Amino acid sequence: TTTTPTPKSVVIIGAGLVGALAAVYFAEAGWNVRLYEMRNDLRKEKYSRERSINLALSHRGIHALSGVSGIDMPALMRLAVPMHARMIHSRTGDQTPLPYGLHGESIYSIDRRMLNEKLLDIADAMPNVTLFFNHEVLTAQFEAGTVTLMDRGIKSQVVVKADLIVGADGAHSAVRRELLRPARMAFQQEYIDHAYLELTIPAKNPSATGMDRFHLDPNHLHIWPRGSYMMIALANPDGSFTCTVFAPWNLLDQVKTPQDLHALFKREFADAMPLLPNLEHEFFNNPRGPLVSIKCKPYHLADKVVIVGDAAHAMVPFFGQGMNCGFEDVRVLFEHLRASSVTSTKMPSAAPSIDTHLAHALETYSATRHKDVTAMCDLAMANYEEMRASVADPVFLAQRKVERALSWMFPNKFIPLYTMVSFTSTPYSECLEKGRALRRLALRILAGGAVGTLAAVAGLVAAVVLAKKRPARAV
Ligand code: FAD
Repeated sequence: TTTTPTPKSVVIIGAGLVGALAAVYFAEAGWNVRLYEMRNDLRKEKYSRERSINLALSHRGIHALSGVSGIDMPALMRLAVPMHARMIHSRTGDQTPLPYGLHGESIYSIDRRMLNEKLLDIADAMPNVTLFFNHEVLTAQFEAGTVTLMDRGIKSQVVVKADLIVGADGAHSAVRRELLRPARMAFQQEYIDHAYLELTIPAKNPSATGMDRFHLDPNHLHIWPRGSYMMIALANPDGSFTCTVFAPWNLLDQVKTPQDLHALFKREFADAMPLLPNLEHEFFNNPRGPLVSIKCKPYHLADKVVIVGDAAHAMVPFFGQGMNCGFEDVRVLFEHLRASSVTSTKMPSAAPSIDTHLAHALETYSATRHKDVTAMCDLAMANYEEMRASVADPVFLAQRKVERALSWMFPNKFIPLYTMVSFTSTPYSECLEKGRALRRLALRILAGGAVGTLAAVAGLVAAVVLAKKRPARAV
């Protein structure tokens, strides 16, 4: 008798950004996909016009989204707002641009909900994907390839079985919790002392076109750095901005009355205050979220389960990389699946045994991805210091200028850290190493004092002129 191969099955837990993208990747590779989400289908939830929450999408995220054919990238990117530079707001309202890349590169402000809905729509339209909402993972039995979920609709437990289980269930992942013991997982979690709170700058003129719709330049990520706290603002296509205040919990708690609030904003964010008509309501009513950094290892168990996205590596949001890194997880995971010749089919009659190709792919993914993801968690924490304090520090700004000059003069040797992280797919661990080396060099040049700096820069310019045999441009 002949047996026909049947598609392998994957159960993905969590229909957030990363789980939804993973569903599309697996489905395009020919797997049978079931996607389980604890909450209701967000496409059916009422849309709150007042609260649009956006994220910075950059190269790694775009690269991963482009890795599947089902996503119309030009159409998606038309819904994003390009940001070419940071715009630093001083207490007196002066605005100073601080470009991101050397060559006009941009990061993109994109609506989180819209992106998640689009990914769900794409997955939903695929014949080999089934979506289940209101299903919460309770426990898992990885040896047997099963997960127990609570169907919140009928209030009853269901057990589902698959060839592979993917945990994309966020920072407080139930799949990761279930993996702790069997995978002998090392786990580290750190809550920082800061909370975040979202505020809204409404559109200046919603019916206008172009820049007239916005109170601030939409093509910048606006930052109000204020030492131990800060505010940022990212534009939405409708003309509004989503502002996020990052501040110590106790500072937020000290603001008890509208008078306290007005005094704080008048002192620290005077230029933004007139643009925030609902400040009082939003400040006292919008949720305040904790910020957590999570590292763990390994991300898998045999050929049974793997975790991706925030489930594997929550990071503080100060490099705008959490989602980008989670999307990259999915792309990199598929590189390992392909390299290990993992097929999307199995022989139905085969006795249950380890799929060695799959086990090898998960093993190499887990081992190699860990150093990169950990580096990104560390970079995000370091950028926290940079964003809230250093961008207002003259030494830091001078150091950045030297870094940019070095990068301009030796583009193949010195790439600024932010450029490497946000505009390339250089492994994060390499970004960390090279970024630190460049920073040390810039500091050494600065430590030489003004004369030393001039001499060093002049020397470098001369070296470049000689090397390139063409006149130097002004930096
Ligand atoms: P999530 O988005 O958390 O999705 C997990 C899903 O799993 C959820 O839908 C949840 O309901 C579901 N789930 C949870 N538990 C269960 C269970 N037991 N059973 C079934 N389902 C379950 N990243 C960027 O790249 N750029 C940015 O600019 C950026 N800004 C940010 C700003 C802030 C203030 C914060 C807090 C984060 C920011 N991030 C940013 C990070 C980004 O939001 C996350 O990295 C990203 O949402 C992770 O996606 P995920 O799908 O892994 O997890």
